[in-house]
Amino acid sequence: MLKEIRILADHGKQFVPDLRTQPVSERFRGRPVISADITAVQAGRAASLCPSGAIDSNSGTIDLGRCSFCNECALAMPEVYRFTNDYRIAATKREDLIIKPGQADPLRIDETAVRKEVRSIFRRSLKLRQVSAGGDNSCEMELGASGNVNFDMGRYGIEFVASPRHADGIVITGPISQNMASALEITYDAVPSPKVIILVGTDSISGGLFAASPALKRDFIENHHIDLYIPGNPAHPLTFINGVMDLLGNRQ
Ligand code: SF4
Repeated sequence: MLKEIRILADHGKQFVPDLRTQPVSERFRGRPVISADITAVQAGRAASLCPSGAIDSNSGTIDLGRCSFCNECALAMPEVYRFTNDYRIAATKREDLIIKPGQADPLRIDETAVRKEVRSIFRRSLKLRQVSAGGDNSCEMELGASGNVNFDMGRYGIEFVASPRHADGIVITGPISQNMASALEITYDAVPSPKVIILVGTDSISGGLFAASPALKRDFIENHHIDLYIPGNPAHPLTFINGVMDLLGNRQ
């Protein structure tokens, strides 16, 4: 018994005590900041460097729903682009993922875009079915990590379940390949209403690097209301958990 107590004391806390304020490495690439003084020439150059078309060639804005967080823009033009380690970058509206020059405030979800029933029904418990629609297993691994002993999102009632019939919503990863499009629709149909849709990762939000591929079929995104967009390539567990907690109105 004493031996076990000593081991517990040596290991310390295995879980992240406060998921809202947990610091991460300075090298983590989260919310970008763009110089307010960016010129049209600089914007054009940055757009030509960006492999995923996330930078607008006229204004220099970064679309976090397309950004692969490769850091090319910041490496080439550090006086204009830099990435902070702020991981709270989820949004309830697609357009809120576009970061403008001079925008330095933290990103917070637009509360007015949250459906009332989402908070009234799921605030204390949200069960999710994950669908990898052509994903590369990176976001899927981070989602798996969200429930591990470190992040332990289950402490807030947020969990993944095996069956869509036991779920309150779906979490989509991957760019939605043609051969997953109908499976995704079937899974969504099996979830009882009101159902939540969460997109995780650049690929699911915009198609990412594969956006122009004929192998994709993304009608689902256009035909359904998306409750939450969680950028990242892959998305960090803290980005996912904080985004979902914000959606549910969890103030902890
Ligand atoms: S970090 Fe994002 S915005 Fe910058 S070049 Fe890479 S994909 Fe484009």
